[in-house]
Amino acid sequence: MAFESLSDKLQGTFKVLKNKGVLTEKDVDEAMRQVKLALLEADVNFKVVKEFVADVKEKCLGEEVMKSLTPAQQVIKIVNGELTDLMGGEGAKLEYDPAGFTVIMMAGLQGTGKTTTCGKLANFLKESGKKPMLCACDVYRPAAIDQLEVVGKAVNTPVYTDRKSKDPVKIAKAAKKEAELKGFNVLIVDTAGRLQIDEELMAELENIKDKVKPYQILLVVDALTGQDAVNAAKGFNERLAIDGIIMTKMDGDARGGAALSARKVTGKPILFMGTGEKYDALEAFHPDRMASRILG
Ligand code: GDP
Repeated sequence: MAFESLSDKLQGTFKVLKNKGVLTEKDVDEAMRQVKLALLEADVNFKVVKEFVADVKEKCLGEEVMKSLTPAQQVIKIVNGELTDLMGGEGAKLEYDPAGFTVIMMAGLQGTGKTTTCGKLANFLKESGKKPMLCACDVYRPAAIDQLEVVGKAVNTPVYTDRKSKDPVKIAKAAKKEAELKGFNVLIVDTAGRLQIDEELMAELENIKDKVKPYQILLVVDALTGQDAVNAAKGFNERLAIDGIIMTKMDGDARGGAALSARKVTGKPILFMGTGEKYDALEAFHPDRMASRILG
């Protein structure tokens, strides 16, 4: 699972503090140095770490903490609260168009798990009582259309395709029309992916956004890629003003930096996390639970 090493290191640091009883400013300084190192090693963005540690330290050195009967516990509580805030505080939820029909545009670089996540999302929506339809808008790779059809079959969700068209806007619009006509209420649009952010891809996604007007734009990023995932999120967000992030491969040995920095760097919430290759391996992202899991 993600965060393992970070979790071990933070827990080790706090164990030392707990054994001390009374804390001095020097103890807190040393603990914060360890926290900083652990976060940097977990590949958390440097600026994010600096700010985080400064905030935590200031709170920890307050009189109520230092003079309390259980200062180490107070320090852990502060770190827990700050970690929760860092990852998005109360958490955020996928939003549906109040008009009744929601278009969700999925974006992301190739290999992040975008197509698999389309299936997971369809599965989640069905479990939430929605009627989703999928739409294949990668007009460059026929294999991508095939893959989405396999995914659709696996999660028992129809997939709109038009193998003759090279126009994703036209495809998405036609899919929306068909979905509405057939009584579906969510359209998940799988867009083309590339190995890296390029102008052509961004222009295409921007065009789909302008003309199809998705209610939610969700960006799929791969937790295993650490800072690259955060940079991708930043790049996509600057052009597309995304609504939320889905962090995949959190079941792997991701150091956790992406999950910890994404919110702060982009200002956008992580809505879900992928925790496996199966279609039911999608969980709502709860910052408070994640923080508690890290701190043990
Ligand atoms: P795309 O190129 O972004 O559409 O990526 P795919 O959907 O084809 O996924 C790439 C690989 O990542 C596949 O082998 C998926 O099974 C795998 N994958 C996707 N999400 C997860 C996840 O949350 N955990 C794990 N372990 N693997 C995932």
